[in-house]
This record gives sequence, C-alpha cells and structure tokens, in this order.
Amino acid sequence: MNVIHLSAECYPVAKVGGLGDVVGALPKYLCRNGVQASVVLPYYDRKFVRENKFETVFEGYGQLGHRHFDFYILREVSDKLGFPLYLINIPGLLDRQEVYGYPDEIEQFVAFQLAFLEWIVQSGEHPDVIHCHDHHTGLIPFLVSHSFRYNSLKDIPTVCTIHNGEYQGWFGWNKISYLPEIDLSKSGLLDWGGTINSLAASVKCCWNFTTVSPSYLEELSYRSNGLESLFRMEKQKGIGIINGIDTEVWNPETDPLISAHYKRESVTEGKKDNKKALCKEFGLKVEHPLIVFIGRLVGEKGADLLPEIVDRVCTAYKNKVNFLILGSGEAGVELQLGALLSRHKKQFGLFIGYDEALAHRLYAGGDFILMPSRVEPCGLNQLYAMRYGTMPVVNSTGGLKDTVVDMNSAEGYGIRFNQSITVDATEALGRAITLYKNPEKLKELQERMMSLDFSWDRSAAEYLDLYTRLTKLQHGIESN
Ligand code: ADP
Repeated sequence: MNVIHLSAECYPVAKVGGLGDVVGALPKYLCRNGVQASVVLPYYDRKFVRENKFETVFEGYGQLGHRHFDFYILREVSDKLGFPLYLINIPGLLDRQEVYGYPDEIEQFVAFQLAFLEWIVQSGEHPDVIHCHDHHTGLIPFLVSHSFRYNSLKDIPTVCTIHNGEYQGWFGWNKISYLPEIDLSKSGLLDWGGTINSLAASVKCCWNFTTVSPSYLEELSYRSNGLESLFRMEKQKGIGIINGIDTEVWNPETDPLISAHYKRESVTEGKKDNKKALCKEFGLKVEHPLIVFIGRLVGEKGADLLPEIVDRVCTAYKNKVNFLILGSGEAGVELQLGALLSRHKKQFGLFIGYDEALAHRLYAGGDFILMPSRVEPCGLNQLYAMRYGTMPVVNSTGGLKDTVVDMNSAEGYGIRFNQSITVDATEALGRAITLYKNPEKLKELQERMMSLDFSWDRSAAEYLDLYTRLTKLQHGIESN
C-alpha cells in the first residue's frame, strides 16, 4: 500500500513543533510495517537540504490564478530518514528558510498543494491513500473530489490529521481564482463563516479525519476556534489516535545531545549528571529541584501564566527551587520573563529561541516539566520528559489527560491540575517540590514512567488499520 504524507513540517528537515516530530517518525514506523509511506514537503533552504543529496525526479508546471509556475520534485537519494522524502520546489514561492510567518503564506501553501496534485496527475502515479496534515494541506480533499482538473484522482481516499485546530488557513473568497475550476455547486464545502477555511474544508471533504489524541477529538466539539458545530456534525468521521514518540531519537541511553547517558535503573545518577551540567550552564543550584518548560510562548500553552508562576514559586521557595525556560513566542511574555532574571538570580534561567539540542538537555537534566496548556492536542513534551524520567506537571486537557496519570492513583506517575490558572499550577508545583524531598518515592515514580510504552508501533498500527479499511471501501469490499 502506497501512502503519501503531505505536510509543512518534518523533522529533521523543518520542525517548528509536534507536527514536525510526527511526520518525521510515523512514516518510518509505517514503512517497517509493510506500508510504502513517503513524505512530501515544500522545499526549504535549510541545513538538512543543503547537507544532503537530492535528485530531481520530476519537473512539471502549474497555475496559481494568473501566475504560471514551474515546479521540481526532488528526492533525497539515500532514504536516510527511513522513508522516501520528496521536496517540491517552486522557485520564488517554496524555496524559503522559515516554515511559517511570510505575508504570502496563503500563496505559498496553495501553490504547494496544487504542485503536488499536478505532480500526481501529470506523472500518472497515483498513491493508494493521501494523508494530509493540518490546514496547510487542507484543500487537497476538496480539490481531489470537486475540481474538474483533478477528476482522475477523485477515488483516492484522503485522510487528514488535525495536530492543531486553532490555526485554520483562512483566506478571502477574492482568492478563489487560485484554485482550478471547481464544481460551483460544491463551493460551500470550502466555506466557513463567509471565508474560505482550509481546515474546515478538509474535515468536510476527507474520508476520515484523525486527531492526535482521543480527548482532543472530544474537545473540538466544544472548543475549536469557531469550528465547534462542524466537529459535532462530522464526528462520525473522526478518530482519536494518540501520537507516539520516536524512541530512537528520544533515548536517554544513546541520545548524543545529552551530557550523560542513563537507563531506568541508573536514573538517579544519570539525571544528576545531566542536571549538574545544565545548572552550571545557567548558574543554577544543583541541589534544588529543577522545573523546566519547553515550548512556544503562546496562550495555548498557558505561557502568559509563566511569569507569575515563576515569580510566585521562586519567592515562596526562595533559594530552594530552580526554573529553566526554553521557548519563544509572544513578545510581552518574553519581556516579562526576561525581567525576572535579575529578580531571581541563581534560581531562574531563560533561553529565548529555538534550540533542539538544549531541549534534549532539559528533558534529561530537569526534575519536573511544567505544562500549563489551555489547549494540548496531544503534547509530545510530556512523553519525551517521561522517557527521560522527568515528571510531568500538567493541566488536565487534551492529550495530557490521556497520557499523564496523577501520582495519587495507584498506578500514577505524574502531577495533574484542573485549570490553567496560576493558583492551580503553583499548588501543583508545591506538590512536586514536596515530592523532591522524598528521593525514594521520586525514583519509584521515575522508574514507573520510564517503563511506559509510548512508541510509535502501537499508534502506527491504528493508522494502518484505517488505511486498510479505506482502501477496501474504495474497492467496494467493505461498507463504511
Ligand atoms: P506544539 O503545539 O508546539 O506542536 P508539541 O508538544 O506537540 O507542541 O511539540 C513540541 C515539540 O517542539 C517538542 O519536540 C519540543 O521539544 C519542541 N520544541 C518546542 N519549543 C522548542 C524550543 N524553543 N526549542 C527546542 N525545541 C522546542
């Protein structure tokens, strides 16, 4: 079975968050289970692309409104990621350094989707399933079904996975001419609230959609940035599949990015060595608990609460606790956090920016990871943290609810709180600081969380079941 994954991100080519991690790992595990899974990305002018060898396997042409473009399909020659990787280059439109943030983002991603469809139409090589990730690829299910130009593709099953429903790829109807001629009687499928909404269109038109955790699927029906009633209507098409983690990349026994290797049995010593190096790097005190935060500094992640949480906890436990934050995002939050550095010297460390290697050092050297997220479709940080024996302290939402069991339960291993507000997060951190004083209990819980299996094998099998069902349906072997 041939499944093409279409995405804006894929680790290690281009990663901004969890989408990159998932698309960099899931296809590898699918390939190991007999699926011919490949990934198609926009071309990026980035390190991985410059340092690896690609060959041009197809050249074609397309049309974005009145703008004619030529595109080139490049394939990484050695399949070093464990699956075939294709990049679509459209000079002037897709040869960029950053993944997001350009003023012509709509043109960028619409052209990417059109070039992909042109490629499979012009080459005549049709996959068995097209798997779209997030809104950047959300027009594909509609175009395949209702655009005359791509009529030959209309029987190919499409799956879309929602990694983040907050961003939806909105654009005005004045840009409808970007799309090739469509069946106008179906144009309502593109619309939500008077604008073209790529994510809504993909949910309406795909054969099935998946969310990256079962709880997130439930949540979308009452909190999805305006699409609540759509998710209620389309619920029967939704499947919640929890993300896995790439246990080869995220492994404290072999991770080349951390200071000392360790396994479950040596978690105490191993984490201590990593913590020592990290505390030295940031001028913190190794004998006190180290609470870390890694992520985008945005409201979804509850990052606006961080300055107050850090200030309160550092004041309440003066010289008895350390905080270390890695992230970037809203300027106000960055500034407020920066201002706390001098107020809580030797207790608080901060790195504003994106640093993959530092993230690994934080997972290995931290004692606790704080996630006060308001919205967390799956959350990978808590899964990586647990693999490194770092206890998650999380708000009970989305995937955090599905993966973290509070230590008050018999089989628990984490700390949960019930609202993304400062008081609740601070109280939860108080529990963490108390636990830190009981190293035997802490070690027992660390060993328990390190024994959990969040590898991709289980989740990849669920995707495989879905593809198998859809291809049977396509061939009329089974009814939906
Ligand atoms: P998101 O909503 O951002 O996709 P996830 O929890 O699904 O959240 O995934 C976040 C991923 O991005 C993790 O691999 C995390 O380690 C990484 N990450 C986030 N911010 C940073 C940063 N500033 N530096 C390095 N890695 C980061």
